[in-house]
Amino acid sequence: MNLSVCCGEREELKAEVVVVGGGPAGIQATRMLKERRPDLEVAVLRPEPHSMVYCALPYAMEGLFPLERTFKKDELVTGVGARLIRQRAISLDLESRSLLLEDGRTLRFGKLLIATGAIPLRPGFPGSDLGNVLTVKTAADAESIMARLPRVDDCAEGERGAVPEAGVRAVVVGSGAIGIEQAIAYRARGVEVHLVEMRDHVLPHLLDSDMTRDLEERLQEMGVELHLSTSLEGLEGDGEAERVRLSGGREIELERGRDFAVLAMGMAPDIEVFAAAGLEVVADGLVVDERMRTSASGVWAAGDCVAFLSGIDGKALGGKLATNAVPMAKVAARDMLEMEASYRGFFNGAATVVGDLRAAGTGFTEAFARSRGLEVFSTHGATSTRFPMMPGAGDVRVKLVFEVGSGRLVGAQAVGAEAVAERIDLCTFAIQKGADAFELAELSYAAQPWQTFFPARNAIVEAASAAGDVLEGSGKAEGGREVR
Ligand SMILES: Cc1cc2nc3c(=O)[nH]c(=O)nc-3n(C[C@H](O)[C@H](O)[C@H](O)COP(=O)(O)OP(=O)(O)OC[C@H]3O[C@@H](n4cnc5c(N)ncnc54)[C@H](O)[C@@H]3O)c2cc1C
Repeated sequence: MNLSVCCGEREELKAEVVVVGGGPAGIQATRMLKERRPDLEVAVLRPEPHSMVYCALPYAMEGLFPLERTFKKDELVTGVGARLIRQRAISLDLESRSLLLEDGRTLRFGKLLIATGAIPLRPGFPGSDLGNVLTVKTAADAESIMARLPRVDDCAEGERGAVPEAGVRAVVVGSGAIGIEQAIAYRARGVEVHLVEMRDHVLPHLLDSDMTRDLEERLQEMGVELHLSTSLEGLEGDGEAERVRLSGGREIELERGRDFAVLAMGMAPDIEVFAAAGLEVVADGLVVDERMRTSASGVWAAGDCVAFLSGIDGKALGGKLATNAVPMAKVAARDMLEMEASYRGFFNGAATVVGDLRAAGTGFTEAFARSRGLEVFSTHGATSTRFPMMPGAGDVRVKLVFEVGSGRLVGAQAVGAEAVAERIDLCTFAIQKGADAFELAELSYAAQPWQTFFPARNAIVEAASAAGDVLEGSGKAEGGREVR
């Protein structure tokens, strides 16, 4: 593949397709393009030394494995014959169809896929730029946090999670999955952890408050100090934050050179370069159609850098998840190859773990559905995770959210000991297919002593059947509200 031509002093690169970004979206699209069209010249731009498995970062930080285990191999893209260029694009010229790279070279393209992802939000609180106020995304972020954690060897088995005398203190702001996983990782390394959440329960985008009590109890048992219904008001200090100011007059002191705060308050699309080039953008990302085409011809975008719609109500919705980035990239790649494809929207199935409890959710929570103007009701189902006489049997609770009238499933949540993400994936599929309570109640399921409750009951079927009763007028919706 001849990708470079020389023009005077400066080398000019070119490729039929340029993919900007080496995250899940960029890798997925590159592999599909090359696997289906091996003759296509594809170049991938990626400034960092390694692509990363971001989802595994908290567990590397906890000390379960070295950080290097989160690095993906370059062969994921080079192995299919794409060229990897370790550079950042600093500007885009749509007229000459070229990108300017940080090292001064230009890269001309026929087609362009933007997959630049998102960066952690640093809302403009006083002091949010102080030295020990950190965010979590890159390997460098992880390294700077890990440098402040007690060494793994100092937290001997059995003592992991015990706060050493005069130990490190951390304040994590935001109790989404990223914030919770960080809090747990720091506790495992013996850090005193304060988890601050402005809503009245943890994981507010994933679960309703009636599903989080066990998780909150477990976090407290693990030694995480929860500050619910509490907002960050600011951070104070000279160079480093020495005090975290919270609503209600509460303050948490931080010691210079030792303690730190982490903002886990959401992600913002990394699109400055493309907005400056005139591509249409909104706050949540680049505007694309259902084929992932941007406002410029021959330019696609996929992943966290994109703004898209809910697959449930067709309105704008955040969806910064790897499990959204990958299917978006598949659609973009297929469309670039002139194959049929369209993206239906975000359903946002996601999961996390708190100690021995798994938690997952999909679609809309009951509270969020109401905030979007949907009239909904909810039902619950619960079983043990194995036949009750089997060793290790735990509990699993499921909450389903249905639209009043149509009876269609719009959301599901599950908390329990085992097989939680799998249950939620099944519910996502039901939502994607527009299934209603009666259809879900007819789910044909498997039963086996080590893996499920007795054949007589299944938590999803139980909740769906209860919803069917509500819709037929013979049952009660959760919360005692009768719905007809
Ligand atoms: C700690 C953590 C845990 C997570 N856990 C989960 C999880 O459990 N499940 C889940 O589904 N999601 C999880 N996510 C979210 C998930 O990582 C993202 O949704 C996903 O990485 C998005 O993929 P992407 O390819 O769109 O962007 P990214 O993975 O962000 O990749 C963007 C790429 O673009 C590059 N880039 C940016 N600007 C430029 C430029 N100007 N020029 C060239 N290259 C550029 C970047 O360097 C990077 O290589 C987690 C995220 C974090 C931070």
